[in-house]
Amino acid sequence: MDKIQEMEAYAKEHNVPIMDLEGISFLCEFIKQNNVKRILEIGTAIGYSAIRMALLDNDIQVVTIERDEQRYQEAIKNRQIFGLDDRIEMIQADALEIEIEGIFDLIFIDAAKSQYIKFFEKYEKNLSKHGVIVSDNLKFHGFVEHPERIISRNLRQMIGKIKRYITYLENNPNYESEFFDLGDGIAISKKIKKE
Ligand code: SAH
Ligand code: MG
Repeated sequence: MDKIQEMEAYAKEHNVPIMDLEGISFLCEFIKQNNVKRILEIGTAIGYSAIRMALLDNDIQVVTIERDEQRYQEAIKNRQIFGLDDRIEMIQADALEIEIEGIFDLIFIDAAKSQYIKFFEKYEKNLSKHGVIVSDNLKFHGFVEHPERIISRNLRQMIGKIKRYITYLENNPNYESEFFDLGDGIAISKKIKKE
């Protein structure tokens, strides 16, 4: 098993919801094709997606935020194993409670699904002129398309929030959003250029 596969196995064993292979491949391809260099990630978990993105090119820089202490510690360990301490900055905090300085080409929202509009509105000021905001898990394991499978009230509320976020993206006049039925459902929102 290589080091990437070891992280994947750890995630599976400990129920850490890292991106699936289809989703991460799509995201990595987008980063390469669009020459993305500065990335802000909301939701590090154990550092899997941050590491995969940073490994794409030596001049990619990632800043990533995780609120859970244990996952953050695991991410720090993984970052070290990959020798990426100088290119991935890991911050342990609630992303809604801190301020991040700097401008990013890509902001990847992959944290609490019920808070996506808040993350979007808080961090869009950190987006470069030609930047994109990528949102993960818009299918939420198929539940968004198949609400009849939902049994718990909490889950139903969360699906409602994801749907509201999708509508929010569709109606946001400052962004053009494309939705991809890949991985667990990914949106790419590009800032609309204004003269
Ligand atoms: N991007 C990762 C997976 C992230 S899973 C990967 O694909 O490898 C989502 C993570 O977001 C969880 O670890 C959760 O603890 C974290 N999270 C949820 N809400 C958050 C918040 N408000 N601030 C920071 N982290 C948050
Ligand atoms: Mg995700």
